[in-house]
Amino acid sequence: MKRPILIHPDPRLKKVADAVPDISDELRALADDMLETMYAAPGIGLAAPQVGIGRRLIVLDCIKEEGAEPRPLAMFNPVVVACSDERNVYEEGCLSIPEIYADVERPAEVTVEWVDRDGAAQRETFDGLWATCVQHEIDHLDGKLFIDYLRPLKRQMITRKMVKLKRELAREKA
Ligand code: ZN
Repeated sequence: MKRPILIHPDPRLKKVADAVPDISDELRALADDMLETMYAAPGIGLAAPQVGIGRRLIVLDCIKEEGAEPRPLAMFNPVVVACSDERNVYEEGCLSIPEIYADVERPAEVTVEWVDRDGAAQRETFDGLWATCVQHEIDHLDGKLFIDYLRPLKRQMITRKMVKLKRELAREKA
């Protein structure tokens, strides 16, 4: 089931999400819903707070090549345990901040530990787009958005645009 994605500014996007104590069927269903929502958007990552759920769960799939096998990942309680000194700049976007893109600099490589949908501990080192995406999504769990890395003036401009967009969307619905 697809879920509506919250648009910034929203207080639910600024909250620190709670750890998931154990993986229930309900949480597995939430992960499936989030993957469906992400692919439909389309996007390469989505965090639970973006669908209004304050839990430490992210989903991602950064396979972009046409015809390549998809790699849907659901990570519960993901933590960055190591990152490279080398940094990388990517033009980032966010499903909660539609049609806004900006360069963000982050570590080029990160090692992440998480619990998978079967409750098993996982650990993997990501680079390239995967590294950027996983850091962006984990930020969401701490109430942080990619625009928080930008200069205040730019951030305020984007926020104003989003307030306007939300007003327009609300008007369309009414
Ligand atoms: Zn995002």
